Amino acid sequence: MFNPNKKQKRPKLFKRKLLSRVYSFIKPYQFVFYILIFLTFVIGILEPSRPYMIQIAIDRYVALKDYAGLMKMLFWMLGLLLVQTLAQYLLSYLSDWLGQHVVRDLRIKIYAHIIRLNATFYNKTPLGRLVTRNISDTEKLSEVFSQDLAAVLADFLQLVGMASFMFYIDWKLALLSLTTVPLLLAVTYIFKEKTKRAYREVNDVVVKLNSFIQSRLTGMSVVQVFNGEAAELDKFKTLNEDYRKANDKSNRYYSLYFPSLEIMRSIGISLLIWHGAKGVIQEITTLGSLTAFLMYIKMFFRPVSHLAEHFNTLQMGLVSSGRIMELLDNNEFVDNSGRYAPEQVQGSVAFEEVWFAYEGQDYTLKGISFDLSARKSLAIVGATGAGKSTIINLLERFYEPQKGVIKIDGINMLDYEVHSLRRHIGLVLQDVFLFSTTIYENITLGDDTISKDRVIEAAKMVGIHDFILQLPGGYDYQVGERGMTLSMGQRQLLAFARVLVYNPSILILDEATASLDIETEKLIQQATIKLLASRTAIIIAHRLTTVQHADHILVLDHGVIKEQGTHQALLKKNGYYATLYKRPYQVA
Ligand code: ADP
Repeated sequence: MFNPNKKQKRPKLFKRKLLSRVYSFIKPYQFVFYILIFLTFVIGILEPSRPYMIQIAIDRYVALKDYAGLMKMLFWMLGLLLVQTLAQYLLSYLSDWLGQHVVRDLRIKIYAHIIRLNATFYNKTPLGRLVTRNISDTEKLSEVFSQDLAAVLADFLQLVGMASFMFYIDWKLALLSLTTVPLLLAVTYIFKEKTKRAYREVNDVVVKLNSFIQSRLTGMSVVQVFNGEAAELDKFKTLNEDYRKANDKSNRYYSLYFPSLEIMRSIGISLLIWHGAKGVIQEITTLGSLTAFLMYIKMFFRPVSHLAEHFNTLQMGLVSSGRIMELLDNNEFVDNSGRYAPEQVQGSVAFEEVWFAYEGQDYTLKGISFDLSARKSLAIVGATGAGKSTIINLLERFYEPQKGVIKIDGINMLDYEVHSLRRHIGLVLQDVFLFSTTIYENITLGDDTISKDRVIEAAKMVGIHDFILQLPGGYDYQVGERGMTLSMGQRQLLAFARVLVYNPSILILDEATASLDIETEKLIQQATIKLLASRTAIIIAHRLTTVQHADHILVLDHGVIKEQGTHQALLKKNGYYATLYKRPYQVA
């Protein structure tokens, strides 16, 4: 099970394999990426050259009163400043462009991946975590590309550039100016470590918040029915408080860090003025050099603090990308090694000694065997937990049996290509899932090859066409999220229409247990008869009429077939089925 408190494995910064995988996402845009690197070099040289040019302007032209020379120098400075501004604009625009493109590709890749993962994966993975991977983690990665990667490189280059100019101008002053740098680095390192830990806490709480909201929203009716609002709100308040606290910690570090940088900068400036001014008076140092150094000290602190900040987000981005890669490395796919893909199947279904356990040796189905000829109907009855839905799960290939074989038309199910197989097996679950889109798309499920006529024909057949036409917009009526604006019976009928347009040879129906009004009940009954006609049908039956009409009945108990036969034969036997049948209203 997912344990949100469990420390997740975090990738080390600059793990080479991780970086090369991240790079594989940049590769399609590598031209832009190289332009970005070039631009950072341009800025890394131009920015530190300015104080040096000011030094030359003061010492060579102002001191010697060379007005024309000064103007030329100023002209150059202005020109280079324009180039730098342009480079900065391009850098900012292109890095954002790159970030957005990479994230778009990555989101598609993640979705394309998780859409193929199997039921076991979904059983154990909280949806909130998947939402976080697809939304927040990719967002972080986009920040890495759009801001941090280029910024870290540019800051680093600027630091190297400034140090080089400083030593070139006056190495003694350079050493003096840089005396506070070790202290600066130490403070920055402590800050970085502290905020990194705080960020991790923030991130963990975000995952918890997402999972919490996701599950509570999905189960809101349960929360409300059991008057759980106050308790749930309390839990949410606690989580939010954790979130605030985690953020508060990192804020505190920030509030401390920047003033301490200011103190160190002031110490540096004081040292420089004290020693430099003495040098100017004694004519060891020029006024231009002192001015340039004052500028350098001011400039020097910005990239260092930026580096610390961006380093953190870079690290967070890599943590996120590590998690994304972990998800992309998960290969719990639906096994699709079968190649048999017939245009049509007759529809006979046979279970031969099928054993299945969701986990380990805890078998849910224990040696199930039955043989259902094409176009016949099979009703499965049994108490809750007997294993009825599990038989459906196996038939839909959500899981594979550990022992035994399931055959369709005499051929092992595993030899079929999964998508082809699923096209021949229709499924209507009792809890109908509708997407928040139009009625029309809920019937076709976005398959453009299904014509409008066919949709209307199917709707007419199940008797819901007239109802749809009464809705505002008819077939274009937007059903609310999960189809909440429709009644249970209407959702059932829509699900019938959905299956009918696909016209499968085998139909699996999990009958709704909810009692409906007489009118809808009748509609559903008529629709069911039409739906099942001329197909192989497997029904988890809850209604007497259904079992009575079934060609064969399977009575399931704790994963074994207790009895089987026709309704009459089973009644005559006066066994388990007969006791179930004699219970009022329902057979299961
Ligand atoms: P029925 O449909 O007859 O009510 P099911 O087939 O849903 O019964 O369940 C049979 C048994 O399998 C139950 O004990 C249930 O707890 C277990 N089970 C069902 N689904 C899962 C799952 N996804 N993971 C683990 N166990 C499951």
